[in-house]
Amino acid sequence: MNVLLIGPPGSGKGTQGERLAELLGLQHIAAGDLLRAEVESGSDLGARVRHYLDSGDLVPDDLIIELMVPHVLDAAKSGGYILDGFPRTVAQARIAREIADAAGATADVAILLDTPRAELVRRIMARAIAEGRSDDTPEVIENRLQVYDDATRPLIDFYRDRGLLQKVDGTRSADEVTADILAALHDQDVTPRP
Ligand code: AMP
Repeated sequence: MNVLLIGPPGSGKGTQGERLAELLGLQHIAAGDLLRAEVESGSDLGARVRHYLDSGDLVPDDLIIELMVPHVLDAAKSGGYILDGFPRTVAQARIAREIADAAGATADVAILLDTPRAELVRRIMARAIAEGRSDDTPEVIENRLQVYDDATRPLIDFYRDRGLLQKVDGTRSADEVTADILAALHDQDVTPRP
């Protein structure tokens, strides 16, 4: 099974991605984690993407595609993937779909973690205190939410039009959201019914 998690910053994609990977035997691939690892490793790619992460802007599509696609294709071959934070633009989604289709690695479902802005800001500020991420400052948070609205939100219609979208209420507790996602996977008919 191949799953996409879509949602604004702070909607719980990371938490749910980890849980679902564990529960369903999928590989959790988080675009932001891979990018932060590149920056920390001091790689060439890390040096090229650092300022995008620090400002909350999106890394250019060609760089993120180059980074993500090998992981996605590998995971699809070994049981399936749960993708967190990729694709984040319609252009990324189109390119990724073309490559995935050719490799038999197409996504089966796109889960939208629907969460209102006030709740997102509250959660991201709490995370800033707990984790100290360089992009969890008030100005950068504001930019990341704006980038989501401008660049990523159009993905909702993109996946709805393809019959892949399942919407889940992201304001519920982490356990409830996990249960709702599992139910949505049944609705989408991508997990065996009990
Ligand atoms: P995240 O941890 O998912 O919130 O991502 C942190 C940052 O990584 C984002 O603010 C972007 O700068 C970058 N990023 C993550 N995923 C993508 C993507 N699919 N396309 C472009 N940039 C991304």
